[in-house]
Amino acid sequence: MSSAEFRARARHLRDARRIVVKVGSALLVEAASGRLNRSWLESLADDLARAARRGQQVIVVSSGAIAMGRRHLGLGSHRLRLEESQAAAAVGQIRLAHAWQEVLEARDLAVAQVLLTFEDTEERQRYLNARATLNTLLSLGAIPVINENDTVATAEIRYGDNDRLAARVAQMASAECLVLLSDVDGLYTADPGRDTRATLIPEVREITPELEAMATGPSSGVGSGGMRTKVAAAQIALAAGSSLCIASGHRLNPLKAVESGAACTWFIAEASPVAVRKQWIAGTLKPRGRLTIDSGAAQALARGKSLLPAGVTRVAGRFERGDTVSIIASGRELARGLAAYSSGDAALIAGRRSAEIEALVGYRGRDELVHRDDLVMLRAPKVSE
Ligand code: GLU
Repeated sequence: MSSAEFRARARHLRDARRIVVKVGSALLVEAASGRLNRSWLESLADDLARAARRGQQVIVVSSGAIAMGRRHLGLGSHRLRLEESQAAAAVGQIRLAHAWQEVLEARDLAVAQVLLTFEDTEERQRYLNARATLNTLLSLGAIPVINENDTVATAEIRYGDNDRLAARVAQMASAECLVLLSDVDGLYTADPGRDTRATLIPEVREITPELEAMATGPSSGVGSGGMRTKVAAAQIALAAGSSLCIASGHRLNPLKAVESGAACTWFIAEASPVAVRKQWIAGTLKPRGRLTIDSGAAQALARGKSLLPAGVTRVAGRFERGDTVSIIASGRELARGLAAYSSGDAALIAGRRSAEIEALVGYRGRDELVHRDDLVMLRAPKVSE
């Protein structure tokens, strides 16, 4: 495939509103010395700053804590025990975060450290909290730099590799594009180190069992991910509506290189993250509760607005924040959405102005009872609604 064709595919990166860039340990940390590869990091920071300048919101998922920390603690090159890698992560993470802070702040970008555990991405309430925090950071113009919270994660319940973590982050943030920068330039038909006939697969639209069979385990010895975790990440990303690119980080300005048409593997999502999320909300089999709304609110929803507490006349069922609720107008289901309050709190604020929420429930939550991003119309309201 020609460079022009790769460049055309890179529109998924150029046009994305939100991008997640995952950086592997082997790129950031020099294997022999355990030192940070600073000139490379500076060049990536230039790429990220360029994306931010053209209005894109950027999230970084950065590995490298264990690789940096083990060297600093003099842990040698043996396979680390769990406690040792957790100690190494604690020492390395602070240095890693510092490096990111230096390079991004030098480019006038605010940096936020976010450490996530497996439970934070899998358990509903925590997922929603992490999602809300990421959205707030991005809307304030900060770049979240994320890693797994290796120091507290337990062996049985951890990602271990940042490829799949990055895919969950892309899903959580509804990012249109995820780039996995690693020590290989894409997915090959066979292991290129062993088979000279191996060729790069430029584009994937569906992950078939044959494709999964082409992906092998880790090779670098520095990070934890291999092609297998990258394909698993692609599966998560595609299902969430995020396109994913596996590209080589073994060059300066690696994102710019992808945009300019460097060879890589693109996994192209068919639907957008917002469409996938809305489809999922609309497809909930059993909404937990019902919010009955007045005609003013029904008309507002039809215009794409959020549902405010003021327009709600009745709350029924028992639900928690984040559960799906039916929104009823004139006795029929008009829309579905994720509640920003539990049923108890929703009952307290129904019919009231958003400014009164804090006094009523005792904390300052969202102004909306169902935010428009979390809401799907199932039909158009009648004029009388
Ligand atoms: N979280 C690990 C670290 O920071 C890296 C996991 C991976 O290599 O993907 O060292």
